[in-house]
Amino acid sequence: MTIERIGVIGAGQMGNGIAHVLALAGYDVVLDDINKDALSKALERIDRNMHRQAARGLIKDDQIAVAMKRIRTTTSLEDMKDRDLVIEAATEDEATKKKIFQELTPRINDKTLLATNTSSISVTRLATATDRPERFIGIHFMNPVPVMQLVEVIRGIATDDPTFQAALEIVKRTGKTAAYAEDFPAFIVNRILQPMINEAVYTLYEGVGNVEAIDTSMRLGANHPMGPLQLADFIGLDTCLSIMQVLYEGLADSKYRPCPLLVKYVEAGWLGQKTGRGFYDYRGDHPVPTR
Ligand code: NAD
Repeated sequence: MTIERIGVIGAGQMGNGIAHVLALAGYDVVLDDINKDALSKALERIDRNMHRQAARGLIKDDQIAVAMKRIRTTTSLEDMKDRDLVIEAATEDEATKKKIFQELTPRINDKTLLATNTSSISVTRLATATDRPERFIGIHFMNPVPVMQLVEVIRGIATDDPTFQAALEIVKRTGKTAAYAEDFPAFIVNRILQPMINEAVYTLYEGVGNVEAIDTSMRLGANHPMGPLQLADFIGLDTCLSIMQVLYEGLADSKYRPCPLLVKYVEAGWLGQKTGRGFYDYRGDHPVPTR
């Protein structure tokens, strides 16, 4: 099974990063979003990030124009019809993702493989929104995609071997390392990471420490490169909340109860870096803690 033409649905933080690494690996990419603005921002960001990589000597200058030419943008799923694989990287919401797959499947050919970049939702369940659960898989890139080495590969109950092998081949061609995770809520990385972030928000909620004390404690006391609240802002608080809800509901264990303060930030639209405000306010020259 040769994969050369890949579609990416959702041009947010993850979608632009996925398009970036695929184009550098030589794949022809069509990037789709319902929001035109997200598409132009994604192209700008990819270009900027590639220049940053070139400045660090990670790629050559002349690779940039070639890779940028391999990326086309669209707001129409019709443009997915010649793709060998389509990776969905839209908002972390099951209904949104299922609707995308339901609308996508009649528009693509029978052989096209489908993947989701979901951080937590059941791959097996998302596969049921398609006509091809055996050719459906989870390919979970980490944020920021051009920098992070790991990709979790998650088979649904029906995923066949050729689809699994094709996913491993893509990960290899992007120069990343695959870790195989079983299809249980939030897989491996987020099953461990998100409860820690949620606990950091509880620590803030209960007044054990303020934002600065909590992040400094984990950076200097546990040697984490970023504090958990800074990391939550980086991931997106809506994504963090959604993953905790999937853990809470999927494992039916109260230890995964999303912190009410996390819910409040999301309800306020303070989603972290991507909206300019979260546990820190990013609208000035330096991030300022909001608590
Ligand atoms: P984001 O909010 O930055 O981007 C989501 C994009 O999806 C937006 O541009 C939105 O317009 C688009 N979208 C929504 N509905 C759509 C539709 N019907 N058709 C096309 N586009 C649509 O979110 P993100 O952080 O890029 O997350 C995307 C996915 O990647 C989620 O499943 C998330 O769980 C997963 N993920 C996120 C991270 C992270 O750290 N943020 C890490 C790994 C995986």
